[in-house]
Parts: sequence; structure tokens; C-alpha cells
Amino acid sequence: MKRYGLVEAGGTKFVLGVASNKDDIEATTRIETTTPAETLGAMVDWFRSQGDLSGFGVASFGPLILDKTSPDWGHIGITPKPHWSGADLAGSLKIAFGLPLAIDTDVNGAALAEARWGVGQGANSVLYFTVGTGIGGGAVVDGRIVHGLSHPEMGHIRLPRHPDDREFAGTCPFHGDCLEGLASGPAIIARWGASLSDLPADHVGHDIIASYLAQTVVTMQAVFAPLSIIFGGGVMGTVGMIDRVRVQAKALGNGYFAGDIDEIVTLPGLGDKAGLLGALALAQAD
Ligand code: ZN
Repeated sequence: MKRYGLVEAGGTKFVLGVASNKDDIEATTRIETTTPAETLGAMVDWFRSQGDLSGFGVASFGPLILDKTSPDWGHIGITPKPHWSGADLAGSLKIAFGLPLAIDTDVNGAALAEARWGVGQGANSVLYFTVGTGIGGGAVVDGRIVHGLSHPEMGHIRLPRHPDDREFAGTCPFHGDCLEGLASGPAIIARWGASLSDLPADHVGHDIIASYLAQTVVTMQAVFAPLSIIFGGGVMGTVGMIDRVRVQAKALGNGYFAGDIDEIVTLPGLGDKAGLLGALALAQAD
């Protein structure tokens, strides 16, 4: 039985684990994301204490350099996150352990895990979005993660503005009012001073954010015709948000796209284990 080291690399914390299959995560720990030297050093130290491993699966915040012909494969790309642009995430483990290593974005990992074990089981086209500190999206088609020159950046698509949301400039440092710049947690706080969960249920923010996510749904239906579009992340913890997205997506689609929105658009099936299980799915697929 292969035992894999698993890394869920996030902007605020790294979650580490060891598992041989999805039902048996033997050990986990959390490390604060500070500087690459500190965090990656602590990660390597923890895995050294975990006995024999067969390889690693790493599901990370992006952007990531995933071109296998590049000397920078497995590095973090250019990110506004201080210290982390160019950090050699994969290399820190490769150099320390010399074992096989699979790395992809957290959302691609989660999409693969949901396609294998979660709500996307049996679907030939599964999309996973996280809506939190940032917005990311990943796609699994016919069992394989979709890549191009790099991984998709679905959080940075452009959307028409909600009529009651024309003034806000958006928070994306690259594009201003892209999807992430309009609907991520920081964008919500920048407009209304609180997260949606802390605003009254009849606050206009709920419908504005739902409208951008619903536009995302119909855009993805047009591009991928997915059987499953899964929305995770902190913003989706807002009571009623998934239902608001469904209602607005149905109205926007106007009966044109195949499938039942109530079945297509869901919360994650794997819950808070999606990150580590994503890393496991990546390791097993390598
Ligand atoms: Zn953007």
C-alpha cells in the first residue's frame, strides 16, 4: 500500500497529511503560511517525522507554474502575496525526499477529488470553484484535469456589472472588477464592511454576489456543458447563497442549457476534506 504525503497549501495555512487511501488519513497538522523559508522548512520537517512515504500530492493556491518542460515547474507564479512569488513549492519536497510528486491548483485537486469520490461521481465534466479570499476554478473532463499553457484562471473572467453595483472598482490587483475582484470575500468586505454572513438576509449584497456567481454558472454551461458545478469556500457558507445562485442562474439561462440547475449547482460533497483529498487524488493520478 502506497503512503502519500499530502499538502493543501493555502494563503493563510498549510494543511499536511499522510494517507494511503481516501478513508484513512493517518495524520494531519497545520502550519501557518508565513515566509517560504519558514513554512516550507516546517513542512519538510513534519514529513521527515512521518515514516516511509511513496510520493507526494500537493494542491496549492495559485498561480502555479505547471509547464513540465520549464525549470520553474512547481514554483508559485507571480502573486500579490508577499514573499511567495517564485517560491519553489515542489522543489522543497523533491530536494528533501527525492520522491515522485504531483502538484496542481487546490481547485483542480478538489475538482478531481469530487469527480472521484464526491458529488461529481459519474459526471464526465466537473467544475469546482472556491469563493473565499480569492476565487479559483478548476475543471475535470473525462477524468482528466484541464490544462492549457497553464492552469485555468476562472476566477478572473469578466462579467457584466449588476445594475446596483456600478461604482465599486473591484479588488483584483490585475483586473479590478473581474469575478474575483467583485465577488471574493475581500471584495464583499470592501463594499459593505462585513462578510455576507454578518449582513442582514435582505441586504442587497446577497443578490449582487449571487448574480455574479450565477453569471459564472451560465458562462461555464456555455463553455463546458458540465454535469456538475461545485461551489466551495467561505462565501458559500452564507446561508441561502447556493439557492440564490441557482434561482438567478435558471433565470439567466432561460431554459437554454441542458440539465437541471438544482442538480448541477451544488456545495462540495467532501466538505472540509476536499483539500487534502484533492492532494491525494493528484498523487494517485500521477
Ligand atoms: Zn482578476
